[in-house]
Amino acid sequence: MRRLERRDFRDRRDYRDRRDYRDNWGSCRSRAFAAAIAAVIAASALAATPASLVPAPPVVSVVSAPPVVSEVPSVPVVSSVPVVSSVVLDRFAEIVVREGAPSATRLAAEELNFFLARIFGAPLPVVAQRTAGKTAIVLGDAAEDSGAAGVHGLPSSAGRAVSMKPPHDRDGYIIEAKDGVVRIVGNDDDVPDPVATAALPDEAPWQPCFRRGTLFGVYAFLERFAGVRMYFPGELGTCVPKTSRIAVPEGRITESPAFSVRRYGYADGPVPKELLDGSAGRSVPSPPQMDETSFKRLNWYRLRMETAHLACCHGAKTHCLAPETWDAIYTNACAILAAAQGVFDAMPKDGFTWARHCPCDWCAKNIPFSRWDTGFATDLVWRRTAELANRLSARFPHARVSQMSYIPYVRIPTNEIPGNVDVFVARRGPWAEGTAIGEREKDEVRAWHAKLGRKVSLWNYPDKVECWNLEMKHIPQLAPRAWACYYRAVAPHFTGVFAESESDRWLYNYLNYYVFSRLCWNPDSDVEAILAEHHRLMFGAAAKEMADFFDMLENCWMKVVARPFDTPLGPGVCHAPTPKELCTQIYSPAVLARLDASLVRAAEKVAAGSLEALRIALFRREYFAPLATVISKISKAEGFANASSEVFRSPEKGVIR
Ligand SMILES: [Zn+2]
Repeated sequence: MRRLERRDFRDRRDYRDRRDYRDNWGSCRSRAFAAAIAAVIAASALAATPASLVPAPPVVSVVSAPPVVSEVPSVPVVSSVPVVSSVVLDRFAEIVVREGAPSATRLAAEELNFFLARIFGAPLPVVAQRTAGKTAIVLGDAAEDSGAAGVHGLPSSAGRAVSMKPPHDRDGYIIEAKDGVVRIVGNDDDVPDPVATAALPDEAPWQPCFRRGTLFGVYAFLERFAGVRMYFPGELGTCVPKTSRIAVPEGRITESPAFSVRRYGYADGPVPKELLDGSAGRSVPSPPQMDETSFKRLNWYRLRMETAHLACCHGAKTHCLAPETWDAIYTNACAILAAAQGVFDAMPKDGFTWARHCPCDWCAKNIPFSRWDTGFATDLVWRRTAELANRLSARFPHARVSQMSYIPYVRIPTNEIPGNVDVFVARRGPWAEGTAIGEREKDEVRAWHAKLGRKVSLWNYPDKVECWNLEMKHIPQLAPRAWACYYRAVAPHFTGVFAESESDRWLYNYLNYYVFSRLCWNPDSDVEAILAEHHRLMFGAAAKEMADFFDMLENCWMKVVARPFDTPLGPGVCHAPTPKELCTQIYSPAVLARLDASLVRAAEKVAAGSLEALRIALFRREYFAPLATVISKISKAEGFANASSEVFRSPEKGVIR
């Protein structure tokens, strides 16, 4: 039987080359993020959304002091009688950021005011000193009270300099409500310009690493007390309930992420143009338009992703395992660590297979092809790693050596691993959920933790480019439950994670990312509650129909990736379905008709022109129509009987029933 090929997924409209995916992180440094943010703020004041179109806030429950960790943040009751035990914010409040505050704190103020402007209908003044008698949100460390009299008749800390220190944890924050003031503080860096994309060169320009704890606190505050949800940037992906007052119960919340490194991405696909130019929504700024980098960076900030990058990606740049080569690597490591004590990445170059291993005399003699398997490779690489780490620990007691459990050195090594080695475990991750290989790989993560007596970091591959020759273009890789199940299961065993999530369309991953971000801060997060809330807030009266649509897509995608396999050198990713399986079983006409019908019924349940309707139309354009089109194309090429199915007739509009 014929196998699927890359050409099956091409289309004339937008297929160019595999490098397309790479391009979107290599060449996307264009317009300044600052301009986009400024425009967002300016637009927010003008573009008031009719209250009737704004989704209902989450179920109201909390009046007293909030729990330290709450899963789905709840919105406190704002009753007609002032709540004595709360700080009540309204449009007459002010935002206080001290003179000379770090740029990350100032960004927190901009983002806070962007959302408060939409909530209250106008932005708040941002001042350097508190104004007497005004309720305030004070951002960042070392902010001072102005000596103001009590607010709302409450006793105040008037006249006393109030300095709230940020938490010890790098990415943690404190939210404290007391005496008419809400204080939000985290560790903030004063980088040259946290919003200008060109100012912060990084591996991907939209993933800058600088401390921004106060910004994280601002987002948590908006979610918990104002019911804001940020699924993706722009009006279509952001749910902002309008209200005249936000009550913040007095008390203190201190939170930190569960995982210190939280990363997704690489080339994860273009953002739909209409989300950048505002044509799909109404108050997305235009002009100037957001560019793709700005959009992805804003999402990166709002999902509270990593601020410290752990280095481990083929740092040693060689396949050679000869002792003299590792002497040279040691010398190199000494030079690097002498300049900056940190992490030395000892991972061999990629593509380390029998066909590409080092041709030097030592390797030729000691690594014969006949012995080249995972056990042999594991022992060699991890023995060299341990030797290097032991030598370095004598000279650089605080430095770390990173090494990855990766093809072909994927087994648990038999030798002892020194305490200064940070181990990254590279495994398939979410896409192997529900398979025997997936279970075994989770056991391997547990076994690594047990061997080391300390947690590992993970590198996973919930992508469809790097590891798929096919790319599976136009097939939605939407499976947030798989992400949740995987990361929850291994949460006790890792401290940092990179989910490498290449895609042909950015929007395929947004809900995977959202769930991932919630798990990164709290691995006990209830994914079903998160998804139900998403469907309710995003689609209102059409929540059930859209829940069906998303559930079916996840179910189908997990069938696409259901065949992981191993090679003699370690894990492959998975076997692709055959054209027949893809077109007549997984995405059969009956399945496509159900997806189509869900969207048709969803659109009937919401008001024409509403945000919900625009969102449903977006998912038809981005998810359903390309899927139906590519399945139709393959079905026709294969001569399948279902090629003439009615469902292929009008995927952009839906089949009228
Ligand atoms: Zn060699």
